[in-house]
Amino acid sequence: MHVLICGGGVIGACTAYYLAHKGVDVTVIERSGVANAASGKSGGFLALDWCDGSEMELLARHSFALHQELATDLGRELQLDWGYRQVETLSVVASQQRDLQSLARQSALDWLGPAAHVHDRIGSPATTAQLDPERFTKGMMDAARQKGAQVQVGTVEGIELSEDGQLATAAIVDGESRPADALVIAMGPWSILACAWLPLPGIFGIKGHSTIYRFEPSSNQTLFLEIETTEGQIENPEVVPRADGTTYICGLSSQAPMPVDPASVESDEGAIERLQELTAAFSPQMAASQVLASQACHRPVTEDGLPLIGAVPEVGGAYVATGHGVWGMLNGPATGQAMADLIVDGSTPHVDLAPFNPGRLARFDPDRLNLR
Ligand SMILES: Cc1cc2nc3c(=O)[nH]c(=O)nc-3n(C[C@H](O)[C@H](O)[C@H](O)COP(=O)(O)OP(=O)(O)OC[C@H]3O[C@@H](n4cnc5c(N)ncnc54)[C@H](O)[C@@H]3O)c2cc1C
Repeated sequence: MHVLICGGGVIGACTAYYLAHKGVDVTVIERSGVANAASGKSGGFLALDWCDGSEMELLARHSFALHQELATDLGRELQLDWGYRQVETLSVVASQQRDLQSLARQSALDWLGPAAHVHDRIGSPATTAQLDPERFTKGMMDAARQKGAQVQVGTVEGIELSEDGQLATAAIVDGESRPADALVIAMGPWSILACAWLPLPGIFGIKGHSTIYRFEPSSNQTLFLEIETTEGQIENPEVVPRADGTTYICGLSSQAPMPVDPASVESDEGAIERLQELTAAFSPQMAASQVLASQACHRPVTEDGLPLIGAVPEVGGAYVATGHGVWGMLNGPATGQAMADLIVDGSTPHVDLAPFNPGRLARFDPDRLNLR
């Protein structure tokens, strides 16, 4: 069996790994580079129980456990390391207008400034963890390669169907037909392009901005901030200190349009400066340290906020795995494992994919695609 995966983000990489693990012949086609989009620019924060009470609960819990297993097993077996570590997670309040000392309920952190106060402990090392998302995605792809998968740079431009339109037979990559027994659409927010090729619901991109500082705080808690700005707005940046002596901060979402080429994503005007001002509001020490990267990326979302994971309706041999929103890094392993189980065995013993059935939402009308 030969499976062709369209897209080399965390979902494509994890799917490739679990398929290759089952002995399947896998090729990943990636347009710009593995982990070049959101999967290389996200926070890499993982939580066991933050999806509890939603349709994502079982997927997230299973994936959190798989992350722990992968970090240990692939670390030992293949010497792969993506900085996975279990950490405490705190909520922090800060204001550019007034003193919020009365909201401080936990001990202060010496790397935060006087305007920031630790309000609550919202995750323990048993329930929250971090990893470097780029190293994780590339690590999973390397592990897939070591089990025989191939990764090729190319642009998927279409899907070929059998004469009766009921079976996907090949992908068109850079003008060439690439036959496969099964095709997986895992192009993150660019999966919307596949709505012109297959009966799929809409997948949209929400932009987020981030900066990485060369800053090693004296403690490694992940922080979820609520900052009251001088203009009276509330901003909610997230701060993830990483095992490699850097600290990542993200925030400032926008609905700015997404370019067709993932390599052309740019920050909104003024967004990075704004993020750096917010950093100075809660940690002057961090804001004064060297900036290693400033970037933007689009997270894939669907109309009902749940991912699309499963077989494409009405077309045999076609599958989709995307739309994981803010939890794509967390849910990558369970999604990849479920896709491999579904494609090879026809069932998914570890997670129930029913809530994520792509057929639950109406088909997106491809005439609405406004490509630029
Ligand atoms: C700022 C920010 C912070 C985040 N923080 C977290 C977090 O802390 N924890 C968490 O769990 N999640 C987080 N997320 C969400 C997570 O990053 C995403 O859900 C996840 O990366 C999506 O992975 P993906 O593989 O579906 O898509 P992508 O990473 O977008 O990968 C899709 C790939 O498809 C390729 N592609 C596109 N078009 C084509 C084509 N025509 N042919 C071939 N290849 C193509 C692209 O180049 C890209 O590499 C965050 C997201 C953002 C934006």
